[in-house]
Amino acid sequence: MNIFTQRESNVRSYCRSFPTVFHRAKGSMVYSESGVEYIDFLSGAGALNYGHNNDYIKQQVMSYLEADSIAHGLDLYTSAKENFLIKFSEKVLMPKNLDYQIQFCGSTGTNAVEAALKLARKVKKRTGIFSFMGAYHGMTLGSLAVTGNTAIRSGTIGTSNNVTFMPYPYGFMNNFDTIGYIESVLNDVSSGIKKPAAIIFETVQAEGGVVVAPIEWMQKLRALCDKHDILLICDDIQVGCGRIGSFFSFERANIVPDIVVLSKSISGYGFPMSLLLIKPELDIWKPGEHTGTFRGNQLAFVGGTAALEYREITNLEQEVNIKETFLKKFLNEQIASIHNKIEIRGIGMIWGIDLAQFEDASLTKQITSRCFERGLIAERVGRNDTVIKILPPLTIEMSTLQKGCSILKEVFDECLISKGNERPVTVV
Ligand code: PMP
Repeated sequence: MNIFTQRESNVRSYCRSFPTVFHRAKGSMVYSESGVEYIDFLSGAGALNYGHNNDYIKQQVMSYLEADSIAHGLDLYTSAKENFLIKFSEKVLMPKNLDYQIQFCGSTGTNAVEAALKLARKVKKRTGIFSFMGAYHGMTLGSLAVTGNTAIRSGTIGTSNNVTFMPYPYGFMNNFDTIGYIESVLNDVSSGIKKPAAIIFETVQAEGGVVVAPIEWMQKLRALCDKHDILLICDDIQVGCGRIGSFFSFERANIVPDIVVLSKSISGYGFPMSLLLIKPELDIWKPGEHTGTFRGNQLAFVGGTAALEYREITNLEQEVNIKETFLKKFLNEQIASIHNKIEIRGIGMIWGIDLAQFEDASLTKQITSRCFERGLIAERVGRNDTVIKILPPLTIEMSTLQKGCSILKEVFDECLISKGNERPVTVV
């Protein structure tokens, strides 16, 4: 037994899928203590959009530390926070004509989700929240209550917190008018479900299996919220910060949520940070009403400011578009063609290979383990972990992306052929 298995709680999880001791990382590569190199298609679950130890960001963080600048600042006014606020306003909000107040929350995504739910309930003076089947919003009680996966809700008996799950356009629900259903629930005085304060949604259910919401669906959702005086909260923690190209993932639907939740890659360097964007008229917090010691991660402000500069300098949005085209083509032509039970979904630089139709829960595990043995890190998501999620850093070099994809292809060929699956005719 090593010190991890001996001392670290059973709750540990990613380390079980990737059992080595990691030591160093650069760009899209991670190295183990013994020097084995891995291509990273996990990216800190979306916290490393700019890659590991991004030189541009690192330089600014290093000079900040060297200068003995403020390292911990509660929510005091600091120059690091000032610079971040200015940069975020100038580079993100103003060009997009978005007017939001920014609330810095506790350091993880789930804390910002908690704040969003609290604020929505306070504003609308209603307790109910609608969430979606398949949603993932975090692990603390409030956000867990809006998370769909019942298996991870153990220990929270009786804390469903007045949340109602509505169908997301996925699987057989794809052919069902889910917005029409919500509408009828709201209109029916005998539906048994009260009007909620807010509806929280992801434009792409990432942990839920990489399920991409259709544009029209999001537009109808926005209209429904307006019609019924319900707040729309977009959890952009995983697919925001440029993951699909544009800075916010909801931009593709041309909608403006009332509250936006950001975390993960907002700090640029993998530092903990989370925030809410709140329409000004909804910012009715009393001072200190959602306070916390670690809401002013100064290094995250510095990293986040540098990341916004880096995005612009490197024209990252265009880079993502190029790599999206490559991934889409590769997955559809090289992976989907291996077997007609393979389903590919995705957008930008988040893609899912869905193997649920094989009805063999161990298959994705077998594939990701073989990938790991061959030097590729990719995780499993979705119902019963039947989807392999492809989430490389946005900055990954094309050659590394291709190399990672070749490993995937080899492993898929190997695992599916060894299971005796027939090859389909062809994919057009
Ligand atoms: N919402 C979404 C969409 C997420 O992907 C995650 C993390 N996977 C969270 C919320 C929770 O963030 P955190 O783990 O930082 O609490």
